[in-house]
Amino acid sequence: MDLGLKGKNVIVTAASTGIGKAVADTFASEGANVAICSRSRKKLIDAASDIKNKFGVEPFWGVCDLNSKRDIETFYNAVVSNLGKVDILVNNCGGPVPGYFLELPEEAWDDAYKQVLLSVTRFIHLVLPDMINNQWGRIINITSIAVKQPVHNLILSNSFRAAVTGLSKTLSTEFANKNITINNVAPGYTLTHRLYELAVNRAKTSGKSHEEILTEMAKDVPMNRLGSPEEIASVVVFLASKQASYITGTTIQVDGGSIKSIF
Ligand code: NAD
Repeated sequence: MDLGLKGKNVIVTAASTGIGKAVADTFASEGANVAICSRSRKKLIDAASDIKNKFGVEPFWGVCDLNSKRDIETFYNAVVSNLGKVDILVNNCGGPVPGYFLELPEEAWDDAYKQVLLSVTRFIHLVLPDMINNQWGRIINITSIAVKQPVHNLILSNSFRAAVTGLSKTLSTEFANKNITINNVAPGYTLTHRLYELAVNRAKTSGKSHEEILTEMAKDVPMNRLGSPEEIASVVVFLASKQASYITGTTIQVDGGSIKSIF
């Protein structure tokens, strides 16, 4: 199936590893021009050379701390200078720190607000004018199953992912008549460095090893296994495709059946 992504310019944020990297890989495999960012130059160089080895084209990359407005603007301007206008924006980010309400200092809230919510509004502000001019655009935010079923010990993620969901639903309505779709993909337990860190964190207080925690997480999933970053990426790329032209304002969970509610 031709997804209509050949030659489209795509930004994928926080894309040197994990879900973001798998999303960048999948867009590259469809012939899109990919731009990736994260905080680590070394990891970006590794990610870019891996994409070049697999798909024959080097993505544009730039160091960018998503908590910094200046970094976001600098990266965006560099993408436009190198690739041209942005057709597709995938907002991914590092996961906020785990912790219970009474344990978390105010700085952790400030940090999570900037990275999870404000970085999304900043990028959307930057890409929208060209999308409106072109009467075409795709914005996809990576959120979490936390938007439908809050996750234990992850109050920052539970709070700010919900805010991203409210933001994107509102914008999807506002820009639907400009042919710009805005959707979210909500991963369940997906085997990445982030999940490994969460398992190590839970192991500290549970008296179990992180391997046991990961096994328990997998057992909680009706499919009895963890997801792969590629399984999340396939849905993101579909939402960007020409076939997904009538889907907007929605959240698609990719969780092996984890969420127990019917909506
Ligand atoms: P990961 O740790 O593998 O990757 C995170 C990426 O974010 C890396 O490229 C890292 O360099 C980048 N990053 C971190 N902080 C950054 C910053 N301040 N500025 C720029 N880049 C930054 O994690 P992942 O599992 O791929 O998670 C991606 C997103 O999906 C996270 O927000 C996570 O909370 C969410 N999520 C993950 C799971 C899961 O099970 N893995 C489940 C639900 C939601």
